[in-house]
Amino acid sequence: MLHNDPFTWTPTAETAYKEIKDFLISPQVLIAYDPKLPLLLATDASKVGLGAVLSHRLNNGEDRPIAYASRTLSSTEQKYPQIDKEALAIVWTIRKFFHYLYARHFILITDHKPLTQILHPEKSLPVLCIRYKAPEANYTLAANCLLFEHRVVVPSSLRQPILEDLHAAHLGIVKMKGMARSFVYWPGIDADIERVAKACTQCAEHARAPPQMRNHHWEYPRGPWERIHVDYAGPVAGVMLLIIVDAYSKWMEVKPTNSTTSTATIAILDELFTAYGAPITIVSDNGTPFTSAEFQKFLQMSGVKYHKRIAPYHPSTNGQAERYVQTTKDKLKRMATTPSTIRQDLNEFLRQYRKAPHSTTGQSPAQLFLGRNLRTRLDLVRPQDTHERILEKQQVEFKPPSRIFNQMQKVYFISGNPRMEKWIPDTIVTVG
Ligand SMILES: [Zn+2]
Repeated sequence: MLHNDPFTWTPTAETAYKEIKDFLISPQVLIAYDPKLPLLLATDASKVGLGAVLSHRLNNGEDRPIAYASRTLSSTEQKYPQIDKEALAIVWTIRKFFHYLYARHFILITDHKPLTQILHPEKSLPVLCIRYKAPEANYTLAANCLLFEHRVVVPSSLRQPILEDLHAAHLGIVKMKGMARSFVYWPGIDADIERVAKACTQCAEHARAPPQMRNHHWEYPRGPWERIHVDYAGPVAGVMLLIIVDAYSKWMEVKPTNSTTSTATIAILDELFTAYGAPITIVSDNGTPFTSAEFQKFLQMSGVKYHKRIAPYHPSTNGQAERYVQTTKDKLKRMATTPSTIRQDLNEFLRQYRKAPHSTTGQSPAQLFLGRNLRTRLDLVRPQDTHERILEKQQVEFKPPSRIFNQMQKVYFISGNPRMEKWIPDTIVTVG
């Protein structure tokens, strides 16, 4: 039909149109959904409407439709740019056919070139496009485990123990959510986390008003363990705690001690410097353990370049350590720490603290400090991936290789006789 031909819709055209429509939904065309057949989803958007066809690819290569969907665009939607309309078609259709597509892989057919790039499975989604991703579309099955993105979907009967585990060290809401985000998911998990954290009586009893921010500007270090902040806290459950925080990664060490002398402080720091090296700068207050000649000599001998001392009565300028001193003391109180549980409680707290993404850096202290994440029991909820399973199996089956000897080779063998030399020299006569 040419543009200038007048368009007339005749009764014949109407009949033909109806016949086509009837044929498209007749059993000669449609087939029933079969969970074993591959799925194709074709979507398209025009100026005024959205359309979609869900089909199966049969073993003979033929595509046969299962269902159709279409709707007109609202007046607002009609003003969307074409890329948004096409994306809307995809999102709307996936929601519409959710029961067919849920936990299944399917081929998405769209004629919109940019979207095939943007929504490509091997590319990460640009931030602006995240709203296009329907939450239902992110479910997959792996090793008989339902995953939401990379998170395990937890059935309702198991949610409470997981929530309790997330709150084992009485972490706050933000940290709990951060931790959950890398492991587990269920609809409404954020609200559940808030409920558990707010309902915790130990947390409420020891809640404190947020500390006043006194901004002493510390430069952000270039790497881990360049500048550490140290401070004493306590007594908690009868012991003092030396708290050491790395300014870069927020990695924290908490060492219980019965004495706060320079000698005791040096012993703890020396052990840490042995494990992680000496920092360039150490920040402390003017307390006696840190001002003695003995302590200064220790820093010098260890290779610490700068010792910045905070004026007394202005402990908040030691910002980093000060805040962590408070947090640690609070957490231990919430855990109802006693002298017999202090070490265990400290470990529980540090395990979760080091693993949870930090609010300042957005990453876990372990990731920034060790360059890897810490494995804890929470990791057991994840389905084991194939690579890991193979490695584990290989470790079990590993046998040391047997040694090969040549004829006339000089060897030592174990005498096995306590009255003789342990190793006896000899020569291989024949090789079997
Ligand atoms: Zn709590």
